[in-house]
Amino acid sequence: MKVHLNQIPAGGTLHLEGSEDAAFLELQLAGASAVAPLDYSLDAGLSEGGLFATGQLSLQVQLKCVACLETFEQELRVDPFALQKELGSQELVDLGPEIREEFQLAVPAYPRCDGEGGRVCPASFPTSPADDASLPAGPAAWGALDKLKPKD
Ligand SMILES: [Zn+2]
Repeated sequence: MKVHLNQIPAGGTLHLEGSEDAAFLELQLAGASAVAPLDYSLDAGLSEGGLFATGQLSLQVQLKCVACLETFEQELRVDPFALQKELGSQELVDLGPEIREEFQLAVPAYPRCDGEGGRVCPASFPTSPADDASLPAGPAAWGALDKLKPKD
């Protein structure tokens, strides 16, 4: 996603809105795949020696549930998105690297198909509402793993 600096009005902002192919996000590295183009709505402006951009980004992705291993779709949102970038002499500035980084971080590390409450994961166990099933194994489980380690 590139911004032409000469399109930004002096003292004002340039509104960028639309959708763009999500391949540049390289979401497969984070275990997700885009099922639709990236939607964006950003305002870019110039400040002292730099470019700033703020707005929202959203993308529908397919994830694999860590519990039942079924794939499911979820919307990833980066809202608010905000970046500040120093400018060199270039006329065309690519916001792609910053946007890619935000989406890589937005992909859940332990995706669950019931994460948004819209469905019940077939692999879920009855738990009290206070239990957070997405937490990794606690100390008790580590103790059990330690016992499995071969003794030197
Ligand atoms: Zn599931």
